[in-house]
Amino acid sequence: MTPSFSLPPEAATPRLHVARRTLDRLRTVPALAARYADHADVRTLGQLAALPTLVKDDLNTALAHLEPAAEHSATWLFQSGGSTGAPKVGYAPTGFYMAGVHAHWQPLDRADVFVNAWGAGRMWGAHFLAAALADLSGCRIIALGSVAKAEYGDWLAFLAARRVTAIGGTPSVLRLWFAHARATGIQLPTLRKVLWLGEAWQAQLADDLAAVAPQARRWGMFGSTETWVVGTNTPDCPADTFHPLPDQLVHVGPDGLLDFTTLNPEMLNPVLRYRTGDAGELTTCPCGRPDPAMRVHGRRDSVVQVRGLGLDVDELIARVEREPGVARAQLVITQQGGRAGGLDILLLTVPGAAPDTERLRKELLAATFTLSTAFQHDPGSFRVRPVDELISNGRTGKTAALVVREES
Ligand SMILES: [Zn+2]
Repeated sequence: MTPSFSLPPEAATPRLHVARRTLDRLRTVPALAARYADHADVRTLGQLAALPTLVKDDLNTALAHLEPAAEHSATWLFQSGGSTGAPKVGYAPTGFYMAGVHAHWQPLDRADVFVNAWGAGRMWGAHFLAAALADLSGCRIIALGSVAKAEYGDWLAFLAARRVTAIGGTPSVLRLWFAHARATGIQLPTLRKVLWLGEAWQAQLADDLAAVAPQARRWGMFGSTETWVVGTNTPDCPADTFHPLPDQLVHVGPDGLLDFTTLNPEMLNPVLRYRTGDAGELTTCPCGRPDPAMRVHGRRDSVVQVRGLGLDVDELIARVEREPGVARAQLVITQQGGRAGGLDILLLTVPGAAPDTERLRKELLAATFTLSTAFQHDPGSFRVRPVDELISNGRTGKTAALVVREES
């Protein structure tokens, strides 16, 4: 039988005192106290699995009341969300728990020259946690942060000259870097490691990497601003499969959704059956490590309603991205009073390519039942057009497959 917890009872149970303390903290939050009234204690995994789950809004309510502070170090405030919802605050102590990550996962070593390409500032955590990991590894660090499109060429030449061996960033941002390098013929032959966090890995990125930096392999982290790093993987693991850290207890609910409970007594955010919205399963990783790994299936919000019909965003985007000359695609729904007025597919094209957008538009209309039916009377409201840049979160560089805009 597949286990539903990432740790066996003999490993997890002695550490549930951390979950009990988190439960006691959550009980002091007036808006949450009632939901925990029937849950007296957490001494077994069964009792833990019976607790109500928390989502981002609950955690924000709890943090507003608790205002956590680190006991022996500074307390950092970060913002989470903003890609798909209103920004929320999360906390972390000095070091961002990365000593615990580094003890189990060492993608970098002293010989590396590491480019930290996660955006710094604006209260996003990724740049700082990657910096803490690189610091622990003792490598050389180039703190690059966000770079505008016009600067890619100069920076890539600099990075090639510095013989960089490692780079880290959000896959959407890395994809822009490597697509540019590939299109302009820049090679990074010394690059061996690509660290990523913040979104799912992207197949197109792997294609561009193979052309630009044939020796490069991916090293992934999975987590959120609420949980911090939950799990990591290596080039031998599938890109969607991560090994949970021993301080993170991962549980798969009967509905297939993942929830996370911290077993780290230093954790400032009250993470107790916290749901990021990701679905997944516990599995055995083909890399050969015997501990249970989690396979992340992604969020369950791929299907949106367009004029009362379900449209699978990921499926449509994948179809468009198979089109020659298309580097990346994004779906934009413009709503008026909750009704989809128009639907645009934005295309980021490969430099020099000019895809036939009218042919593609007609093909998509003919092949997608939702589109042909929803836009039967006003097919002109469904458009496909090339753009210079897709719509992305300026803070994190994350680029969602779907953007919904409300028009007044
Ligand atoms: Zn593995």
